[in-house]
Amino acid sequence: MPNKARIMIVEDEPEICRFLETALSDNGYIVEAANTGKSALKLCAAQPPDLIILDLGLPDMDGKELVRQTREWSRVPVIILSARDQEAEKVAALELGADDYLTKPFGMQELLARIKVALRHASRREHLSELVYAFKDLQVDLARRRATLNKDEIHLTPTEYDLLALLARKAGQVVTHAEILREVWGKNSDEHDHYLRIYVQRLRQKLHDDPLHPRYIFTEPGIGYRLSEEK
Ligand code: CA
Repeated sequence: MPNKARIMIVEDEPEICRFLETALSDNGYIVEAANTGKSALKLCAAQPPDLIILDLGLPDMDGKELVRQTREWSRVPVIILSARDQEAEKVAALELGADDYLTKPFGMQELLARIKVALRHASRREHLSELVYAFKDLQVDLARRRATLNKDEIHLTPTEYDLLALLARKAGQVVTHAEILREVWGKNSDEHDHYLRIYVQRLRQKLHDDPLHPRYIFTEPGIGYRLSEEK
């Protein structure tokens, strides 16, 4: 496989680390592992990886701090691994620039899918950005600022469109409440906090998306929303 992506695992639990190393190299990735934050930063500086899988609970350093330091010089995709009781930590890490997260225990297929999405987003950033996104029956045309469902135009307000376009640009990845508020409502967005749920609800109605069995917009409780990137 040409251009194998290099993935760095930062994880202090030897069993999880070994499991990840084996599974990822079996899937054709070049894998490096670090069991402390310090060694991770050192390895990163020596040869920057294409993607980082980061356990939030490290012995020597807060995982969030590692995200913050990495983001000072790099846009390398970071996928966080967190424990079930680390909701606030997870949100904070996403706010500091991590790209996605998985809660332990997680399935390998899920992690592999997230890795693919994150690598694709990263390469897209380097090239021309896509202008039309298609997901199942939904199309979002960024140049024309319009969306269609089964080729019929969906009548969206500018705010609803902005919300959908943001989710579409980050399809497959979680977008936090704070990020949505900042990107869609801009400054002083805190006052719009209560609108967000209402707007998502309206958008779902227009997409004929059932929140209990969503095809498009998935809720990440306490964190944000994720648009399914299935074609
Ligand atoms: Ca740990």
